[in-house]
Amino acid sequence: MPMVSVWEKETFFAPQDIIIAGSGFVGLWSAFYLKKRNPELKITILDKGIIPTGASTRNAGFACFGSLTELLADEQKMGTDQMLRLVEMRYKGLEKIRNTFNKKDIDIDMCGGYELFTDTDDYLTEDLEEQIQYLNELLKDIVHDNTYKLADKKLGLFGFTKINHLIRNNLEGYLHPGKLIKALLHHVQSQGVQVLNNIEIKHFEKVSDKIEIETDQKIRFTTGQLLICINGFAKKLLPDLDVEPARGQVLLTSPIDKLPWRGTFHYKQGFYYFRNLDKRILLGGARNLALDDEKTFSLQTTETIQQELERFLKEVIIPGKKFDIELRWSGTMGIGREKMPIHKEISPGVFCCVRMSGMGVALAPLLGEKTAKMMV
Ligand SMILES: Cc1cc2nc3c(=O)[nH]c(=O)nc-3n(C[C@H](O)[C@H](O)[C@H](O)COP(=O)(O)OP(=O)(O)OC[C@H]3O[C@@H](n4cnc5c(N)ncnc54)[C@H](O)[C@@H]3O)c2cc1C
Repeated sequence: MPMVSVWEKETFFAPQDIIIAGSGFVGLWSAFYLKKRNPELKITILDKGIIPTGASTRNAGFACFGSLTELLADEQKMGTDQMLRLVEMRYKGLEKIRNTFNKKDIDIDMCGGYELFTDTDDYLTEDLEEQIQYLNELLKDIVHDNTYKLADKKLGLFGFTKINHLIRNNLEGYLHPGKLIKALLHHVQSQGVQVLNNIEIKHFEKVSDKIEIETDQKIRFTTGQLLICINGFAKKLLPDLDVEPARGQVLLTSPIDKLPWRGTFHYKQGFYYFRNLDKRILLGGARNLALDDEKTFSLQTTETIQQELERFLKEVIIPGKKFDIELRWSGTMGIGREKMPIHKEISPGVFCCVRMSGMGVALAPLLGEKTAKMMV
């Protein structure tokens, strides 16, 4: 990086009120609400990628708040109240997305989704009906509707094999995460937020009442407050936090002739997920096959997982249909021993909002709003 001019120093690199690390959904929604609370704030977002390069532009685009088995598993691990708090944040987050952006700008379609159960899962119809009733009752105060219902009648229409139960959720759908990130970027820039890319924060320290930030571009930034929204990369700046990177791998097929279903589909407590993207199928997951190997910052895909995804596609989702794989990619999630996001002041003037696990699209708006409240 060349030496900076006085003009650059007094504009792009001038001291800020708030610097946000990370321009994924959490960083952007936080900036959005910070500016809403106080339009005078000088805010800069720094991102290490030339575009946001974590999970927000590399996910599956489900606009969802949890499948039946995932929420029941969460309830076992974290207790009923915590599980419901998470669902509420996600559900309200989805409402905020829909109230902020035009449907067609972000391709959001609340078309409904399904959870699949294979013949080896050993679920009895009566047990599922009991669980559906139990969870619907718990979620009623949040969604004011019945969330789940058994939809086994659809099995014949969808053409899946090895699947013996389907549960429908009318309240979820999908969106285009790339378009949502772009719309958010435009929005915060129009609010006066500066977004600088290709700058990685390497280190920060408190110097009197300011925070000095060192970057890989040899430019130092000064700010009153720092907000760290780097999710799966959190350990690099905050080594004591319980956040690990978790790679999620995805593939996208070529268009499938006469695809007999549309919507979002979950399987194995959310470890497998697929949706249609027009006539193509986006399928991701299988991280449960190699949990340790997938704790990585690498964005490569691996044969083990990709082959498993292809097997699932061929044997279960579209048996007998011809397809090519158009794209394969991966993204970095942030997970920990607990599923609740970490959202707090770490030290005076330094805040973080990380560990979004697998449903940050929905979580980010409400967390951004809470973060803005905590900081301003
Ligand atoms: C394959 C996959 C599928 C998923 N599917 C879904 C889904 O369908 N629905 C859903 O709700 N969620 C899904 N998720 C999860 C969701 O995408 C994430 O929870 C959410 O995007 C997290 O947003 P974030 O802003 O916290 O983090 P990120 O989007 O990861 O943003 C963090 C940003 O920080 C930047 N950064 C990192 N380190 C630094 C540094 N030192 N200095 C500056 N910048 C830095 C990165 O470049 C990145 O842009 C999926 C995730 C993956 C990987």
